[in-house]
Amino acid sequence: MSNIEKQKEQLKELLKIHYGYGSFRRGQEAAIDAVLRGKDTLVVLPTGGGKSLIYQLPALIFEGITLVVSPLIALMKDQVDSLEKIGIPTTFINSSTSLAETTKRLEEIKNNYYKIIYIAPERFYNKAFLESLRDLKISLFAVDEAHCVSQWGHDFRPSYLRLREAIKFCGNPPCVALTATATPEVREDIIKQLGLKDPESVVTGFARPNLRFGVVKSSDSNKMEIISEAIRGFNGACGIVYVGTRSKADELVNLLLDNGVEAVVYHAGMDTDSRHWVQEKFMSGGAQVVVATNAFGLGINKKDIRFVIHHDIPGTIEAYYQEAGRAGRDGGESFCLLLYSPKDRFLREFFIKGDNPPANAILELYQILLIEEEEQRSLGRDSILITYSELGKKLSESLPEMAIGTALKILEREGYLSRPNEKTTNAYLKFKGSPESLLGAIGKRAKKQLIILEKLEERFANDLRQGWNFNPEEIANIIQEKRDSVQRLIKTLKEADLAEYQPPFRGTEIRVLKRVAPEDLEINFRALREKLERAYEKLDEMENYVFCETCRSEFILKYFGDDEAEPCGVCDNCLNPKRAEKNKGTDHRQREYLSSI
Ligand code: ADP
Ligand code: MG
Repeated sequence: MSNIEKQKEQLKELLKIHYGYGSFRRGQEAAIDAVLRGKDTLVVLPTGGGKSLIYQLPALIFEGITLVVSPLIALMKDQVDSLEKIGIPTTFINSSTSLAETTKRLEEIKNNYYKIIYIAPERFYNKAFLESLRDLKISLFAVDEAHCVSQWGHDFRPSYLRLREAIKFCGNPPCVALTATATPEVREDIIKQLGLKDPESVVTGFARPNLRFGVVKSSDSNKMEIISEAIRGFNGACGIVYVGTRSKADELVNLLLDNGVEAVVYHAGMDTDSRHWVQEKFMSGGAQVVVATNAFGLGINKKDIRFVIHHDIPGTIEAYYQEAGRAGRDGGESFCLLLYSPKDRFLREFFIKGDNPPANAILELYQILLIEEEEQRSLGRDSILITYSELGKKLSESLPEMAIGTALKILEREGYLSRPNEKTTNAYLKFKGSPESLLGAIGKRAKKQLIILEKLEERFANDLRQGWNFNPEEIANIIQEKRDSVQRLIKTLKEADLAEYQPPFRGTEIRVLKRVAPEDLEINFRALREKLERAYEKLDEMENYVFCETCRSEFILKYFGDDEAEPCGVCDNCLNPKRAEKNKGTDHRQREYLSSI
């Protein structure tokens, strides 16, 4: 038996003794094997997959110390306590540790009291702390939540960029980086930013064998009918339909309601209360289907979602797998259906363009803002109040408002401007008739409007006759009525030509913080271009998924880097391997797949 084999046997014993587990989970063994061989290792396992064991167990047989870097300071104490409880000497050092305590613990560490030490990444900013590591024998440097080192990830922590230096400072021990974020660029970034050398990658455990994937290619106009039909086939089971735009969401929910499906709609344009209500209703089973934009889903842990249908393709496989993966959390058979028409790509490209304004537009926008600001300053104001659409009109080439928003965000991020407020100016209202004529226009049945008119006349009659600048929100509060009701009254009067009304102006307040010549703008345009290129590559990959003729699930898992993924046997392509070929021009086969659901 080789040395490594012996160690592995030993670890299996320790797994039983310390943790009480009989066997390793998928991925754990391969990762531990690499760690024992002293390789730099990148481990990608889903949340709850058991990543901690991968450094904790080898730590027990290593001669020196295992350092574990984690950003989750709040969890450190619990982790240390539970390791101590199962007989593994452990401590931690983070910002909650007092200086005296830190000194004491470092002393204990030097005297080999501990096998594992948890450290917050910010500690490495501290020179004295780094110095104290120099003389230690460190056998393994573990970086938990390693995606925090990547700007492509969702949780970038600048302090993680220090880790590469820290590893060097510790004498370049083998490093194991662990994360649940399985996107290829985050993985590459981890390897690059931590300086992992010829690393072994273990990516596994993302398979969801109870999910049945399928794609339906259709013309844009048939999609809603197909979805409605599919939902009928699910016999009341609950699910999510994702759509690309708010207007489509509204349209689809109406169709479903007409067909007797208890559906609700959810998108970012709705106010917080309505969104809350919809979420509750869906979670409690009061609605069968929620039709939603991608604003829906974070924190949704309903376990018995039986289907997730996408009306159009998402922009990336990552987004698709995350959204589709909301089905079947209880392990029961569930369906993930993606509809596709060639038009989908345009919508996605529209979003990509909105997220990635071209460099010259950013420069021009900055110049426009400099001029605007000067003008405002000559009028004694220190900020610009403007709408995106007004800004757009000043640009030499047309740019969607979404892209203007992104361009402003980029300039803001680099410190050239700030947007303190979304500002709303006052509305303007002037009554043109006598109180009697106004009352007459409302009609007796609109009681609410009569009451509101009386309240307004009672308090603000003079203002209203002279022409009145007011804040609708505030007035609604003063007279203790709903803003919508006040709005309805104004609408009635305006339609009867008894009132002049201008709605409030909603614009963005912009302050220029730094004035430089446009050529001196320090913006990393190359990084922006790379981001744009990546976005297109990801969209291509999403389309490849649509057209792939092999197992859907295998395609996704391989995209995430799981080279051992195998055909699922239950997706549309697995059930009908020749499908793609026979299917040219008709959607006959796809309908068969749907009816088999
Ligand atoms: P991750 O960090 O990947 O999210 P953890 O390391 O916190 O996951 O582990 C999640 C849970 O799985 C823990 O309760 C852990 O004790 C348990 N676990 C880990 N490995 C095994 C195993 N081989 N057998 C059974 N349970 C395990
Ligand atoms: Mg973990």
